[in-house]
Amino acid sequence: MNKVILLNNRPHGKPTINDFKITNTEYPNAKDGEILLKTTYVSVDPYLRGRMNEAKSYVPPFELHKPIQSGVIAEVEDSKHENFKKGDFVLGNLEWREYQTSNGKGLEKVSSHDAKLSSYLGILGMTGLTAYLGLINVGLPKEGETIVVSGAGGAVGTVVGQIGKLLGCKVVGITGSDEKVALLKSTFKFDYAINYKTTQNLKEAVKSACPEGVDIYFDNVGGEISDAVLANINQYARLPVCGAISLYNKTEVPLGPRLQPILLTKSATMKGFIISDFSKDFPSATKQLTAWLNEKKIISKETIVEGFDNIPQAFIDLFDGKNQGKMIVKM
Ligand code: NDP
Repeated sequence: MNKVILLNNRPHGKPTINDFKITNTEYPNAKDGEILLKTTYVSVDPYLRGRMNEAKSYVPPFELHKPIQSGVIAEVEDSKHENFKKGDFVLGNLEWREYQTSNGKGLEKVSSHDAKLSSYLGILGMTGLTAYLGLINVGLPKEGETIVVSGAGGAVGTVVGQIGKLLGCKVVGITGSDEKVALLKSTFKFDYAINYKTTQNLKEAVKSACPEGVDIYFDNVGGEISDAVLANINQYARLPVCGAISLYNKTEVPLGPRLQPILLTKSATMKGFIISDFSKDFPSATKQLTAWLNEKKIISKETIVEGFDNIPQAFIDLFDGKNQGKMIVKM
């Protein structure tokens, strides 16, 4: 038995469990120049929602009735490839499949000696790099400034906030539950956190949390939350646009306030980025994140769901905020 998860339908609005199909395929064997991989950890990420649409984006759409792919940590079960041996662990963009073969292209070896294996999908992987490089390269933080981060309780947000604090900034997080508000303040040492689901007037809540105004808004969610933060930005504010999860399931894009007057009058810079824009900085950023992690200056938070069959539900749960930190599925 070798289970695989296919895209069964292109989701309309929020994905449902019926948009995925779990089926059985043959157990593969490694040919010369190949390795046989056993999936160990699977990353579920909001950006995968965009790949489920037909529309072309910065990554091609998933094909209907074909396996879904994401960041995966896998163990080498058998090797006919000179660069890999049985027992190695690799990180790569692989299929949601229990066992698969690979020619090794695009795979990076990872070791549990250096860090927890799952952290290569989170704080030492794509989301940690996004937080660090998005904040440093686009947010341009300076000591004493005020950073607001939305999606603050998630994989990217928890790291943005912690790095902001390390750099001597004031950090305010916006998140979707009282439990996450408490976590941000106690574990992650945010100066303030706001529950956007229970706050009546978000614009006023941001104003009162940031009496000196907002210098950097690290935007993970877009939509009305971002409108409320934008109303509070300072002169020369920087707004790294990292994600827009509040809009990913919309079937029609809602019309928001026109941004030009505020960007103009505040001489503010709003800049979207995709983490691959900064690929040349990955080695130095990974080194810095690893050092901070080892020195316990930053903490890695993960929500681990168990079982291959639960991958689709773990992905859907991202849109209900069921994760704290990085959402990962363990086999
Ligand atoms: P998270 O770990 O933050 O998980 C998603 C979180 O989003 C949920 O936990 C939920 O938390 C929140 N959320 C879900 N629906 C809504 C909504 N309608 N409005 C507001 N918040 C919502 O995900 P990541 O940290 O992996 O990603 C965060 C963002 O960064 C995403 O938008 C993602 O697409 C983007 N991203 C961009 C990258 C890039 O290269 N630019 C790379 C990686 C991620 P809550 O309880 O607070 O609602």
